[in-house]
Amino acid sequence: MFLGIDIGTSAVKGVLVDDRDRVLAEASAPLEMQRPQPLWSEQDPEWWWTATEAVIDDLAASHAMASVAAIGLSGQMLAVTLLDERDRPLRPAMLWNDGRAVAQCKELEARVPGFAERVGCRAMPGFPAPKLLWLAGHEPALLARARRVMLAKDYVRLRLTGEAVSDLADASATLLMQTIEGRWSDHIASACGISVGVLPRLVESNAVSALLRPQVAARWGFRDGTPVAGGAGDNMCGGIGAGVIARGDAFISLGTSGVYFVANDRFVPALARGMHTHRHAVDALYCQQAVVLAAGGALTWLAKLLGVESVERFVTDIESTPMMPRDVPLFTPYLGGERTPYDDPLATATMSGMRFTTTPLHLGRAVLDGVALALADCHDALAADDAPVDRIRLIGGGARSLLWAEIIATVLNRSLEIPADGAVGPALGAARLARQSVGGALLATPQPVRDVVLPRPEWREDYLRKREAFHAQYSALRDR
Ligand code: ADP
Repeated sequence: MFLGIDIGTSAVKGVLVDDRDRVLAEASAPLEMQRPQPLWSEQDPEWWWTATEAVIDDLAASHAMASVAAIGLSGQMLAVTLLDERDRPLRPAMLWNDGRAVAQCKELEARVPGFAERVGCRAMPGFPAPKLLWLAGHEPALLARARRVMLAKDYVRLRLTGEAVSDLADASATLLMQTIEGRWSDHIASACGISVGVLPRLVESNAVSALLRPQVAARWGFRDGTPVAGGAGDNMCGGIGAGVIARGDAFISLGTSGVYFVANDRFVPALARGMHTHRHAVDALYCQQAVVLAAGGALTWLAKLLGVESVERFVTDIESTPMMPRDVPLFTPYLGGERTPYDDPLATATMSGMRFTTTPLHLGRAVLDGVALALADCHDALAADDAPVDRIRLIGGGARSLLWAEIIATVLNRSLEIPADGAVGPALGAARLARQSVGGALLATPQPVRDVVLPRPEWREDYLRKREAFHAQYSALRDR
């Protein structure tokens, strides 16, 4: 069997799968995020490790880890983790949704001519390269002490194997890499105030990266020298978990953020509209991505604000209250700024069109609608970059809601496939890469589809009108 571990933003998840891709066991351990200042978003790397330990403890309680043939790692992308000479974190990791490095984006592009064409996208806050430049300006002594700069899952790999390694797919999104060549860029690294020497060794996602340390293997009963595959970022692993492994395959992930991901066999650097292009974790493929920074995160935020006991219950209540889109307030989900299509970390969210009759369930539905409308902007931005979208799969925590899927299908005017095992997506993708790293097939069987969700024609007109108001809302605030 194979073990996939996904170091997410809200949780670490682990999954054990057999040779036929059947899920044998799942475990998860929650993670907190801290926002010590507006725009900042951080986690202590130690939390990733503690949660990983809890997940492996849980899985090892019911399954013999000696049967694990290989381990695969997936993780939240773009985290900047600085380690000292004894591999201790020097500060909290700066996460993908940290928006502080705004000024540094411009500076970096001025220092590196042809930046986007080389790395695959413009410099945007949240990405490691501009965040490193922010550190160079604001915490220079700390950055100078850093002996390693790591991504989240690679920090966990370091704890598991003792080796500093990253994979080409996750690494390509740091914006420190020549994406086509697949190597770190000296020029960009030094423009960010670091040397490439502090960056990890690179391997393919489906290659063995390192072996478990003997004491780690002994602790849980893994075989000595159990291999750990390169793995990839959670978007790429989510794609593999959903069977998005060929040109024209696409997925939309409704996690904390919303990601619209399209596999392409051509490298099309994204030059505008807050899009990005990286390497996929599948040989010879790239991925074009558009991102809604607050998707499920906006829903969780609202539920908390309203004092609702659980998001799941909230969604069930929204689902059992039929509403026409025109009777629902308009929500723009820019709680933490927005990436696609505005690349605007300062954008703010709005809720408009409320009445005395508006209930918490209307507000909840408004969030589902608003995220769907933001995904429609992603769809258009991808189309403008010639991304080949043949079929779309919906995955992530939000894909549990049939209503949300129907809203998105209607707004995009496309059918959506819901894969079986969508919720374990990235961890499953990591387990599949583990199998490939020891000579197996990437997919043991064709990816099963649980449901095909179709647009609801009776909502279409309403949403077309709402889209116009949605754009006007953003422009009105931006121009103020
Ligand atoms: P991540 O890996 O980014 O932490 P997940 O894919 O686990 O996220 O999805 C978590 C998100 O799913 C939460 O932000 C939450 O709002 C949303 N969610 C959880 N349960 C449901 C549900 N029953 N219906 C719709 N959305 C849900």
